[in-house]
Amino acid sequence: MCSICERLEETKKGNDPFLIHEFENSYFVIGDHQFFKGYCQVIYKECVKDLTSLDSNNQSSLFLEVMRAASALEKVMKPHRMNYSSLGNVVPHIHFHLFPRQKDELDSVSQKDPWFHSSDFSKFKTNLNEAQKLISLLRKELQ
Ligand SMILES: [Zn+2]
Repeated sequence: MCSICERLEETKKGNDPFLIHEFENSYFVIGDHQFFKGYCQVIYKECVKDLTSLDSNNQSSLFLEVMRAASALEKVMKPHRMNYSSLGNVVPHIHFHLFPRQKDELDSVSQKDPWFHSSDFSKFKTNLNEAQKLISLLRKELQ
């Protein structure tokens, strides 16, 4: 079982304090760090390795769920840009990283790629209280 599936076992039992919203095909969750304020993930419910392994209906509905999540994040975080990342190099289970980017940090050339500072992400572990505030704001936008 992959590490994302292990996490989703708890999510499916209702034990995930970082769950924002359950879509039909995916879970929208707060990311495990907040190096970028408002960093979230959309995680596909099933352990599928590649987007191209999904049929076109599932590809489309997953994409619409990513867009619903991103729109809610835009309303709450008011980013200068949204960055999307789906790599699967570390855990081959379909998931999207949603990074709200603010103008001041984008002006710094070295920070244009959100992964540039990935070695520092663990220093900004998500705080449960802050996550819960963000979750309630995002849920209002998803209603
Ligand atoms: Zn998995």
